[in-house]
Amino acid sequence: SAMYSAKQKGGNQFVVFEIPQHEKLVRRVQLEQDLFHAIERGEMKVHFQAQISLDEGRLIGFEALLRWQHQELGNISPAEFIPMAEYTGNIRAIGVWVLEESLRHIGDWRSRYSTNLFVAVNVSPQQMETNNFAEQVRDALSRAGLPSSALHLEVTESMLMQSSAEVQLDAIQALGVRIAIDDFGTGYSSLSYLPRLAVSTVKLDRTFLEDVGTDERKTQLFGAIVRMAHTLNLVVVAEGIEDACQLECIRSYRCDAAQGYLLSRPIPAETVEQLLETEWRDGLLSAVLV
Ligand code: C2E
Ligand code: MG
Ligand code: MG
Ligand code: MG
Repeated sequence: SAMYSAKQKGGNQFVVFEIPQHEKLVRRVQLEQDLFHAIERGEMKVHFQAQISLDEGRLIGFEALLRWQHQELGNISPAEFIPMAEYTGNIRAIGVWVLEESLRHIGDWRSRYSTNLFVAVNVSPQQMETNNFAEQVRDALSRAGLPSSALHLEVTESMLMQSSAEVQLDAIQALGVRIAIDDFGTGYSSLSYLPRLAVSTVKLDRTFLEDVGTDERKTQLFGAIVRMAHTLNLVVVAEGIEDACQLECIRSYRCDAAQGYLLSRPIPAETVEQLLETEWRDGLLSAVLV
C-alpha cells in the first residue's frame, strides 16, 4: 500500500504513516480550523426534532441538533465535529450561538402556535465548566424575552461526575430551567447520584430501546428503569423510537415522552413551521398513537 516515511531530526527512527491515516489527520486539522469560521460563513444550522407526550400524543417541544454544511466537504456529522470543537475550545462560542438560535425559533413558535413549547439544547462539558454559564443562560433567556420553562438543557452522565457539576446544576435549576440527563444508561449509570442532583428528566438512550417490545428481557429491563426513574420523580423520555412496536411498548410502561425517526426526523426551522401550519396545527399527534 502507499506509504511514506519521514526521518526524524537527528535520529535514526522513522515515523511511518499510512496514507489514509495521514488524510484523516489533514481532514481533522482542516475541519478544526474551518470550525472557527463556520458560523460567520453561514454553514451552521440548528435542526429540530419533535418530542411528544405519550399520554395524549401532544407535541411538547423539540431537541435542537446542530448541523454543519461545509462549503467543500458537505455535511459533517456532529459526532465528528462536536468533539473537535470541544478539543479547540470553540464549543463555547458555538454553544452560545446554538442557544440563541434555539431560543429565537422557540420564541417565535410559542407566540404564533403553541405557548408551552420548549426547546432542549445540548450542553458540552466545556460549557458546564464555564463559571458564569448559568448567567449566560439567564441572559440569553431574558434577551429572547422567554420564561425559563421554554428551555431544557441536556447534559451527559459523565459531565455529572465532575466536581463542579453540582454547583452548576443548582444554579441552572434555580433559574427554573429543567435539566435532562442525555444518553442515560450508556455512561457510568451510577444510580446513587440521581436523588441528590438537580435533574428533572432522564433521556433513555436508544440502545435501551433496541428490541424493546420484541425481546422479553430487554422489555422487562426497560420497564424496571422507567419505574426506578419515576420513583425518583424523574420525567422519562425515550430516544430513538423507530417503529410502532417500540412506541406501543414504551407507552404501556408509562414512559412520559418520546423522540425518534418514527415521529419526526430532525428538521430545519422552515419545515417545523410548515408542519405547525398544517399537520401539527392543533399540537396533537394522536395519529401516531393509534
Ligand atoms: P444526542 O443529544 O443524544 O442527540 C440524539 C441523536 O440521535 C441525534 O444525532 C439524532 O439525530 C439521533 N436520532 C434521533 N432519533 C433517532 C432515531 O430514531 N434513530 C436513530 N438511529 N437516531 C436518532 P445527531 O443529530 O447526529 O447528533 C449526535 C450528537 O451530537 C448528539 O447526541 C449530541 O451529543 C451532539 N450534538 C448535536 N448538536 C449539538 C449541539 O448543539 N451542542 C452539543 N454540545 N452537542 C450537540
Ligand atoms: Mg441530546
Ligand atoms: Mg441522546
Ligand atoms: Mg448521543
